Amino acid sequence: MNNEQGDFVMPGDVVGVSEQYLPNKWTYEEEGFIKAAVMGNVSIEQHKIAIVPKTTTPLTLEVGDTITGQITNVIGQRALVDIQTSIDSSRELALPYSGAIHISQINKGYLERLNDAFRIGDIVEGKVVKVINDSIDLNTESSEHGVIKAMCTQCRHFMIPSKTVGTLYCENCNRKEKRKISSNYEY
Ligand SMILES: [Zn+2]
Repeated sequence: MNNEQGDFVMPGDVVGVSEQYLPNKWTYEEEGFIKAAVMGNVSIEQHKIAIVPKTTTPLTLEVGDTITGQITNVIGQRALVDIQTSIDSSRELALPYSGAIHISQINKGYLERLNDAFRIGDIVEGKVVKVINDSIDLNTESSEHGVIKAMCTQCRHFMIPSKTVGTLYCENCNRKEKRKISSNYEY
């Protein structure tokens, strides 16, 4: 029943008995028990038991962060990305960020057609290169950035990398499609 130093507790959880402990910060006494008033970690000092609240400060993205997201549109010179998570942190994003990858930021070399790199629905990993409020510019030049999961545009099955560099293969319908494939591609 008694918790130890550092244990993670939720509000209302019993963290000790009144015979043994005194309530301190963020704890209270109820019917002989010491209970947590907030979500956090148990902190015991002598006979006082407290909770160190877990702060859930939402995450704001910065230049250099790596994100994952889904391609929502491919228009003109830009692929638009619904940014889902920062892979550097498990915290929730502070804003519903929207990202864009310009055709010049996809590969180190020249890319003629945006559709040879990304298609709607692809899951991508990319680096944040510019932040203006909730609008993010991304770059996928690095080998570990680019598409990490993609569906066949013909039959919607997930595709696997083929022997040809930059090409995915659909085992279901034998279709081949070009992508900017990340070395972290999941299959
Ligand atoms: Zn297919």
